[in-house]
Amino acid sequence: MTKYGMIIDISRCTACYCCFAACKDEYWENDYLPYTAAQPRYGQFWMNIEKKERGKYPYVKAAYMPVPCMQCQSAPCIDAAEDNAVYRRDDGIIVIDPEKAVGQKKIFEACPYGAIYWNEDKNLPQKCTFCVHRIEEGKTPRCAQACPSHAIKFGDLDDPDSEVSRLLNSDTTDILHPEYETSPLVRYVDLYQMNTLFIAGAAVFADTDECAEGVDVSLTGNGVNMKTFTNNYGSFEFDGLAAGVYRLDFTIDNYAPKSLDVQIEEEVYIPAIMLERR
Ligand code: SF4
Ligand code: SF4
Ligand code: SF4
Repeated sequence: MTKYGMIIDISRCTACYCCFAACKDEYWENDYLPYTAAQPRYGQFWMNIEKKERGKYPYVKAAYMPVPCMQCQSAPCIDAAEDNAVYRRDDGIIVIDPEKAVGQKKIFEACPYGAIYWNEDKNLPQKCTFCVHRIEEGKTPRCAQACPSHAIKFGDLDDPDSEVSRLLNSDTTDILHPEYETSPLVRYVDLYQMNTLFIAGAAVFADTDECAEGVDVSLTGNGVNMKTFTNNYGSFEFDGLAAGVYRLDFTIDNYAPKSLDVQIEEEVYIPAIMLERR
Protein backbone atom coordinates (compact mmCIF):
# COMPACT_ATOMS: atom_id res chain seq x y z
CA MET A 1 0.00 0.00 0.00
CA THR A 2 1.01 3.60 -0.54
CA LYS A 3 0.36 6.20 2.15
CA TYR A 4 1.46 9.71 1.23
CA GLY A 5 2.87 12.00 3.88
CA MET A 6 4.52 15.37 4.19
CA ILE A 7 7.18 16.33 6.71
CA ILE A 8 7.90 20.01 7.17
CA ASP A 9 11.19 21.08 8.77
CA ILE A 10 10.57 24.33 10.62
CA SER A 11 14.30 25.00 11.07
CA ARG A 12 14.72 25.08 7.30
CA CYS A 13 11.81 27.41 6.53
CA THR A 14 12.84 30.99 5.76
CA ALA A 15 9.33 32.28 5.00
CA CYS A 16 10.27 32.93 1.37
CA TYR A 17 6.65 32.10 0.36
CA CYS A 18 7.76 30.14 -2.73
CA CYS A 19 5.47 27.28 -1.61
CA PHE A 20 2.52 29.60 -1.21
CA ALA A 21 3.13 31.23 -4.60
CA ALA A 22 3.58 27.86 -6.32
CA CYS A 23 0.32 26.60 -4.85
CA LYS A 24 -1.48 29.74 -6.01
CA ASP A 25 0.03 29.41 -9.48
CA GLU A 26 -1.04 25.76 -9.69
CA TYR A 27 -4.64 26.32 -8.67
CA TRP A 28 -5.61 29.88 -9.56
CA GLU A 29 -7.98 29.71 -12.54
CA ASN A 30 -7.23 25.97 -12.86
CA ASP A 31 -9.84 23.30 -12.14
CA TYR A 32 -8.58 19.79 -11.46
CA LEU A 33 -11.81 17.85 -11.50
CA PRO A 34 -12.84 15.65 -9.84
CA TYR A 35 -10.46 16.78 -7.08
CA THR A 36 -10.89 20.53 -6.85
CA ALA A 37 -12.29 23.62 -8.45
CA ALA A 38 -9.97 26.55 -9.11
CA GLN A 39 -8.62 28.50 -6.15
CA PRO A 40 -9.67 32.17 -6.06
CA ARG A 41 -6.96 34.77 -6.49
CA TYR A 42 -7.41 36.26 -3.02
CA GLY A 43 -8.38 35.03 0.42
CA GLN A 44 -7.24 31.41 0.36
CA PHE A 45 -3.92 30.17 1.77
CA TRP A 46 -3.80 26.43 1.13
CA MET A 47 -0.20 26.60 2.33
CA ASN A 48 -0.46 29.14 5.14
CA ILE A 49 2.80 30.39 6.64
CA GLU A 50 2.40 31.00 10.37
CA LYS A 51 5.00 33.05 12.20
CA LYS A 52 6.22 32.89 15.77
CA GLU A 53 8.42 35.49 17.43
CA ARG A 54 9.92 34.49 20.77
CA GLY A 55 11.85 36.59 23.27
CA LYS A 56 12.39 40.31 23.50
CA TYR A 57 15.15 42.69 22.44
CA PRO A 58 18.09 42.07 22.59
CA TYR A 59 17.44 38.31 22.24
CA VAL A 60 14.68 37.49 19.78
CA LYS A 61 14.09 34.32 17.75
CA ALA A 62 11.69 33.93 14.83
CA ALA A 63 10.32 30.71 13.34
CA TYR A 64 7.97 30.01 10.44
CA MET A 65 5.57 27.12 10.09
CA PRO A 66 3.89 26.30 6.75
CA VAL A 67 0.45 24.79 7.40
CA PRO A 68 -1.39 22.90 4.64
CA CYS A 69 -4.34 20.53 5.15
CA MET A 70 -3.03 17.95 7.63
CA GLN A 71 -4.65 15.05 5.71
CA CYS A 72 -6.17 13.72 8.92
CA GLN A 73 -6.81 9.99 8.92
CA SER A 74 -9.51 10.63 11.50
CA ALA A 75 -10.92 13.70 9.80
CA PRO A 76 -13.62 15.95 11.28
CA CYS A 77 -14.29 17.32 7.78
CA ILE A 78 -15.33 13.85 6.63
CA ASP A 79 -17.64 13.49 9.63
CA ALA A 80 -19.27 16.87 8.91
CA ALA A 81 -19.94 16.17 5.24
CA GLU A 82 -23.18 14.87 3.79
CA ASP A 83 -23.46 12.57 0.80
CA ASN A 84 -19.74 11.56 1.06
CA ALA A 85 -18.77 15.03 -0.10
CA VAL A 86 -15.43 14.57 1.69
CA TYR A 87 -13.65 11.25 1.45
CA ARG A 88 -10.34 9.57 2.16
CA ARG A 89 -8.56 7.81 -0.69
CA ASP A 90 -6.70 4.53 -0.17
CA ASP A 91 -3.42 6.49 -0.30
CA GLY A 92 -4.59 8.62 2.65
CA ILE A 93 -5.36 11.83 0.76
CA ILE A 94 -8.52 13.64 1.91
CA VAL A 95 -10.53 15.10 -0.96
CA ILE A 96 -13.42 17.57 -0.87
CA ASP A 97 -15.61 16.70 -3.85
CA PRO A 98 -16.11 20.05 -5.62
CA GLU A 99 -19.56 19.08 -6.87
CA LYS A 100 -21.07 17.28 -3.89
CA ALA A 101 -19.71 19.82 -1.38
CA VAL A 102 -21.49 22.84 -2.88
CA GLY A 103 -23.39 24.67 -0.15
CA GLN A 104 -22.02 22.53 2.70
CA LYS A 105 -20.66 25.21 5.01
CA LYS A 106 -20.48 22.66 7.85
CA ILE A 107 -17.44 21.16 6.14
CA PHE A 108 -15.66 24.53 6.24
CA GLU A 109 -16.54 24.94 9.93
CA ALA A 110 -15.42 21.43 10.93
CA CYS A 111 -11.66 21.71 10.40
CA PRO A 112 -9.87 22.32 13.73
CA TYR A 113 -6.73 23.44 11.88
CA GLY A 114 -8.52 26.18 9.92
CA ALA A 115 -7.24 24.56 6.71
CA ILE A 116 -10.54 24.84 4.81
CA TYR A 117 -11.55 28.08 3.05
CA TRP A 118 -15.03 29.12 1.99
CA ASN A 119 -15.34 30.20 -1.62
CA GLU A 120 -18.21 32.73 -1.61
CA ASP A 121 -18.51 32.86 -5.39
CA LYS A 122 -18.74 29.10 -5.77
CA ASN A 123 -20.53 28.46 -2.44
CA LEU A 124 -17.88 25.82 -1.87
CA PRO A 125 -15.40 24.67 0.83
CA GLN A 126 -11.87 24.28 -0.56
CA LYS A 127 -8.47 23.19 0.72
CA CYS A 128 -5.05 21.78 -0.12
CA THR A 129 -5.42 18.56 -2.10
CA PHE A 130 -1.83 17.29 -1.56
CA CYS A 131 -1.70 18.01 -5.31
CA VAL A 132 -3.38 14.68 -5.98
CA HIS A 133 -3.64 15.40 -9.73
CA ARG A 134 0.16 15.79 -9.89
CA ILE A 135 0.78 12.67 -7.79
CA GLU A 136 -1.28 10.68 -10.27
CA GLU A 137 1.12 11.91 -12.95
CA GLY A 138 4.12 10.75 -10.89
CA LYS A 139 5.04 14.30 -9.79
CA THR A 140 5.53 15.78 -6.31
CA PRO A 141 3.28 18.53 -4.91
CA ARG A 142 4.06 21.99 -6.29
CA CYS A 143 4.94 23.40 -2.87
CA ALA A 144 7.52 20.67 -2.18
CA GLN A 145 8.99 21.11 -5.64
CA ALA A 146 9.21 24.91 -5.22
CA CYS A 147 10.81 25.04 -1.77
CA PRO A 148 14.44 26.16 -2.18
CA SER A 149 15.34 25.05 1.37
CA HIS A 150 14.03 21.49 1.13
CA ALA A 151 11.87 22.30 4.14
CA ILE A 152 8.93 20.39 2.63
CA LYS A 153 9.56 16.68 2.16
CA PHE A 154 6.94 14.52 0.49
CA GLY A 155 6.75 10.81 -0.17
CA ASP A 156 5.35 7.40 0.64
CA LEU A 157 5.25 6.73 4.37
CA ASP A 158 4.82 3.02 3.69
CA ASP A 159 8.09 2.86 1.72
CA PRO A 160 10.79 2.14 4.33
CA ASP A 161 13.44 3.70 2.06
CA SER A 162 11.66 7.03 1.55
CA GLU A 163 12.99 10.15 3.27
CA VAL A 164 9.63 10.79 4.92
CA SER A 165 9.35 7.29 6.41
CA ARG A 166 12.94 7.42 7.68
CA LEU A 167 12.22 10.76 9.36
CA LEU A 168 8.95 9.49 10.78
CA ASN A 169 10.64 6.38 12.19
CA SER A 170 13.58 8.33 13.60
CA ASP A 171 11.23 9.83 16.17
CA THR A 172 12.22 13.40 15.27
CA THR A 173 8.80 14.50 14.06
CA ASP A 174 5.82 15.89 15.94
CA ILE A 175 2.14 16.37 15.29
CA LEU A 176 0.69 19.87 15.28
CA HIS A 177 -2.05 19.97 17.93
CA PRO A 178 -2.02 16.29 18.94
CA GLU A 179 -4.92 17.12 21.27
CA TYR A 180 -7.18 17.21 18.20
CA GLU A 181 -6.60 13.44 17.84
CA THR A 182 -6.96 13.46 14.05
CA SER A 183 -3.93 11.27 13.08
CA PRO A 184 -2.54 13.67 10.45
CA LEU A 185 -0.22 12.61 7.62
CA VAL A 186 1.59 15.97 7.88
CA ARG A 187 4.29 16.07 10.56
CA TYR A 188 6.84 18.65 11.68
CA VAL A 189 10.53 18.66 12.54
CA ASP A 190 11.55 21.15 15.26
CA LEU A 191 7.98 22.07 16.12
CA TYR A 192 9.28 23.16 19.53
CA GLN A 193 10.25 26.48 17.92
CA MET A 194 6.55 27.34 17.69
CA ASN A 195 5.25 26.28 21.07
CA THR A 196 7.95 26.23 23.77
CA LEU A 197 10.05 28.68 25.79
CA PHE A 198 13.79 29.31 26.15
CA ILE A 199 16.23 30.55 28.76
CA ALA A 200 19.28 32.33 27.36
CA GLY A 201 21.93 34.59 28.74
CA ALA A 202 25.52 35.76 28.70
CA ALA A 203 28.26 35.20 31.28
CA VAL A 204 31.05 37.68 32.00
CA PHE A 205 34.35 37.33 33.93
CA ALA A 206 33.97 40.01 36.61
CA ASP A 207 37.72 40.57 37.04
CA THR A 208 38.46 41.29 33.37
CA ASP A 209 35.01 42.30 32.09
CA GLU A 210 35.58 39.84 29.22
CA CYS A 211 32.99 37.49 27.72
CA ALA A 212 33.16 34.22 29.70
CA GLU A 213 33.82 31.59 27.05
CA GLY A 214 33.77 27.85 27.83
CA VAL A 215 31.71 28.02 31.02
CA ASP A 216 29.89 24.77 31.84
CA VAL A 217 26.20 25.66 32.18
CA SER A 218 23.58 23.21 33.39
CA LEU A 219 19.82 23.57 33.64
CA THR A 220 17.80 21.40 36.01
CA GLY A 221 14.27 21.34 37.39
CA ASN A 222 10.81 20.90 35.94
CA GLY A 223 11.80 17.42 34.71
CA VAL A 224 14.78 18.77 32.74
CA ASN A 225 18.51 18.04 33.00
CA MET A 226 20.40 19.84 30.21
CA LYS A 227 24.00 20.94 29.75
CA THR A 228 25.85 23.30 27.43
CA PHE A 229 28.91 25.57 27.26
CA THR A 230 29.05 29.31 26.71
CA ASN A 231 30.33 30.37 23.30
CA ASN A 232 33.01 32.96 22.57
CA TYR A 233 30.54 35.74 23.38
CA GLY A 234 29.81 34.12 26.76
CA SER A 235 26.33 33.25 25.50
CA PHE A 236 24.27 30.14 26.20
CA GLU A 237 20.74 28.97 25.45
CA PHE A 238 18.34 26.23 26.51
CA ASP A 239 15.33 25.85 24.24
CA GLY A 240 12.23 23.65 24.13
CA LEU A 241 11.20 24.40 27.73
CA ALA A 242 7.81 24.47 29.43
CA ALA A 243 6.79 27.18 31.88
CA GLY A 244 8.07 26.48 35.39
CA VAL A 245 10.93 26.89 37.86
CA TYR A 246 14.49 25.99 36.84
CA ARG A 247 17.98 26.20 38.32
CA LEU A 248 21.00 27.35 36.36
CA ASP A 249 24.53 26.35 37.48
CA PHE A 250 27.71 27.90 36.07
CA THR A 251 31.15 26.33 36.63
CA ILE A 252 34.60 27.01 35.19
CA ASP A 253 38.12 26.62 36.58
CA ASN A 254 39.47 29.45 38.75
CA TYR A 255 36.05 31.09 39.23
CA ALA A 256 33.51 30.62 42.00
CA PRO A 257 30.51 28.46 40.99
CA LYS A 258 27.33 30.42 40.52
CA SER A 259 23.68 29.35 40.68
CA LEU A 260 20.47 31.11 39.70
CA ASP A 261 16.85 30.11 40.21
CA VAL A 262 14.70 31.16 37.26
CA GLN A 263 10.93 31.05 36.99
CA ILE A 264 9.70 31.33 33.42
CA GLU A 265 6.23 32.05 32.08
CA GLU A 266 7.71 33.44 28.86
CA GLU A 267 11.15 33.46 27.21
CA VAL A 268 13.93 34.76 29.44
CA TYR A 269 17.24 36.40 28.56
CA ILE A 270 19.69 37.07 31.41
CA PRO A 271 22.39 39.57 30.41
CA ALA A 272 25.77 39.87 32.16
CA ILE A 273 25.90 36.99 34.65
CA MET A 274 29.03 38.00 36.55
CA LEU A 275 31.48 35.24 37.54
CA GLU A 276 33.89 36.14 40.37
CA ARG A 277 37.49 34.88 40.40
CA ARG A 278 38.26 32.60 43.37
S1 SF4 B 1 -6.75 19.40 8.33
FE1 SF4 B 1 -8.89 19.96 8.30
S2 SF4 B 1 -9.43 19.83 6.13
FE2 SF4 B 1 -7.54 18.68 6.37
S3 SF4 B 1 -8.21 16.56 6.72
FE3 SF4 B 1 -7.92 17.52 8.73
S4 SF4 B 1 -9.97 18.24 9.27
FE4 SF4 B 1 -9.98 17.86 7.07
S1 SF4 C 1 0.30 20.06 -1.61
FE1 SF4 C 1 -0.40 21.15 -3.45
S2 SF4 C 1 -2.41 21.90 -2.83
FE2 SF4 C 1 -1.33 21.40 -0.94
S3 SF4 C 1 -0.33 23.29 -0.31
FE3 SF4 C 1 1.14 22.13 -1.53
S4 SF4 C 1 0.88 22.98 -3.61
FE4 SF4 C 1 -0.94 23.56 -2.46
S1 SF4 D 1 9.13 27.53 0.16
FE1 SF4 D 1 10.13 26.42 1.80
S2 SF4 D 1 11.39 27.95 2.85
FE2 SF4 D 1 9.93 29.07 1.56
S3 SF4 D 1 8.18 29.48 2.92
FE3 SF4 D 1 7.73 27.57 1.90
S4 SF4 D 1 8.50 25.96 3.28
FE4 SF4 D 1 9.40 27.90 3.91
